[in-house]
Amino acid sequence: ADADTADEAVRATCDDATTCKRFATSKGYWKDSSLQYFVRSVGERKAPEINRGYYARVQGVNLLLDAFLKKTQGHCQVINLGAGLDTTFWRLQEENLLPRKLFEVDFPTVVARKIHHIKTKPPLSKPIIDVHSTDSLLLESHVLDSDRFCIIGADLRDVPGLDEKLRRFQLDPELPTLLLSECVLVYMSPAQSSSLVHWAAQTFHTAMFINYEQVNMSDRFGQVMIENLQRRCCALAGVELCQSLDSQKERFLRAGWDQANALDMMAVYSFLPQDDVARIERLEFLDEKELLQQLLQHYCICWATKDRLNLGLSQLAF
Ligand code: SAM
Repeated sequence: ADADTADEAVRATCDDATTCKRFATSKGYWKDSSLQYFVRSVGERKAPEINRGYYARVQGVNLLLDAFLKKTQGHCQVINLGAGLDTTFWRLQEENLLPRKLFEVDFPTVVARKIHHIKTKPPLSKPIIDVHSTDSLLLESHVLDSDRFCIIGADLRDVPGLDEKLRRFQLDPELPTLLLSECVLVYMSPAQSSSLVHWAAQTFHTAMFINYEQVNMSDRFGQVMIENLQRRCCALAGVELCQSLDSQKERFLRAGWDQANALDMMAVYSFLPQDDVARIERLEFLDEKELLQQLLQHYCICWATKDRLNLGLSQLAF
């Protein structure tokens, strides 16, 4: 029962991410036309530095994701691990950038909630149906499977179970594959996240893994972040976070990835298209520039590649 309570707190974190994204998009930081169907109300105000942090996170991850889709010309699959209520499918469908198939994985109860939203809201279901060719669309309470989009309930700490479920829904290990984890690995033990990262390196010969999470947690600011995380998720009590950008890269290199990069979000922010950064910086007055810097220095994007097909994946960067 204790483990279940802990997992419940982890599952609830997807609502935090979604409400923060909902607020930032309502202010105009970026556009997301499907988010409103997952959280109707905009909710309480978030501080400007939080909105800018989410802007950097979403734009940073999308930049690498879109670069991968371009490099593979869509001849690829994407697996979003711990996707929560992520709306990438609808963005890519709208922009005509869909991979062959996009897989999402999360706990079965989170998946069931997401599928319920899709079932009851035509603006969410129509784009899925529009790119589906046969009449075999599977839409059950805990699984959605269509030609281009699949949502699976699974525990990422059970790697054999995950592998089996993905293959049941036509995962193709031969296809270039992008794996994405956004604020997810931090909820697992180092051994569990390593075995997931290791499974990915073993399963796909041509792949990229993008991971976004906390970093540089050993200073005072980092300690406060950890205490806040632990207060919300007692499961994190014993978790060791990757301490540095080097340890982020090491996790991938030790697990069989050929090449790895890591940047803190301060660096990512400086590499984003600066005309758009200038636009969002005018949206809200930011009093405490230092607070934003500190926040951005404590998150990072790490990306790793393997490239047997020599597509040039190691060149993908900001
Ligand atoms: N990636 C989404 C985003 O950025 O909007 C959601 C992030 S949320 C902070 C973390 C998500 O990871 C939650 O939806 C949670 O249920 C999922 N998650 C964490 N541990 C998991 C596990 N062991 N198996 C499946 N999902 C997990």
